[in-house]
Amino acid sequence: SGIQAGLIWLNGKMVPQEEARISVLAHALHYGSSVFEGIRAYATEKGAAVFRLQEHTERLFNSAKIIRMPIPYSADEINAAVKAVVKDNGYDACYIRPLAFRGGESLGLNPLPCPVEVMVAAWKWGTYLGDEAIEKGAKVVTSSWARSPGNVLPTKSKAGGNYINSSLAKADAISAGFDEAIMLDKEGYVSEGSGENIFFLKGKKMYAIAHSVTLTGITRDSIFHVARDMGLEVQEVMATRDELYTADEVFMTGTAAEVSPISSIDFREIGSGRAGEITREIRGRYMDIVTGKNPRYDHWLTYVE
Ligand code: PMP
Repeated sequence: SGIQAGLIWLNGKMVPQEEARISVLAHALHYGSSVFEGIRAYATEKGAAVFRLQEHTERLFNSAKIIRMPIPYSADEINAAVKAVVKDNGYDACYIRPLAFRGGESLGLNPLPCPVEVMVAAWKWGTYLGDEAIEKGAKVVTSSWARSPGNVLPTKSKAGGNYINSSLAKADAISAGFDEAIMLDKEGYVSEGSGENIFFLKGKKMYAIAHSVTLTGITRDSIFHVARDMGLEVQEVMATRDELYTADEVFMTGTAAEVSPISSIDFREIGSGRAGEITREIRGRYMDIVTGKNPRYDHWLTYVE
């Protein structure tokens, strides 16, 4: 298979990837009744460190609560599983995927009778949008797929089923030759990328997209701290696509994408048409924090040793 995940934690046991099996009649496989997290561990001087593990686990439990899925483990047990997966696989840096899902019991739409299974896997994953996109900036396109309104899908939950919406947008963007999609809400306001939050800069003013249908990004929150350190005032705003077209800099944030500069949107060059200068500085500071080079943020790191 493409993903080399080594040892996977499945329902309380550490098993080799080939043996981490579930039922083809799992409710989640048919109806998307799962919740997941995306976490990164980074190589630091003190070994592998998981970035903001507490916050990711808390969001996992909130995602599950939203879709009425009781996770049969405590937050401490999930945290221990995450650390064990990184440690037992001997990773210095990796991407970590905890997943809780409704297993096989009945295939009526009602998920409540189905047992909840949990797995944590981790693998090596480089830059999400490609090294070139980090250097030159990503080319993005506004998707024809609108973000689901809050009364259609619970977008504050990282629920598997929600991601049909994101993967439709991502696939169309890639097929059209772009690196990523920007998704609008049904009224035309910018919500987020298929798996990233959006920021933009005009002069020395920095703006973060604030929207009821976006995921509450943990990277986004981290960037608020970075901006404050740089003396930048961040305002949370609703914005239409044309406000992004005329920004000096636009960038996306996410655990996978980290801080990814945007060089064009819908064929309009953003600023200089390259990775913006302030974006580069923000990215540099973020990478320092996640790799343990900024002692002020050491409390965000969970060392696996
Ligand atoms: N929006 C969506 C839809 C996402 O899937 C993600 C990735 N989890 C994000 C935003 C960014 O969130 P985070 O910074 O916590 O990874």
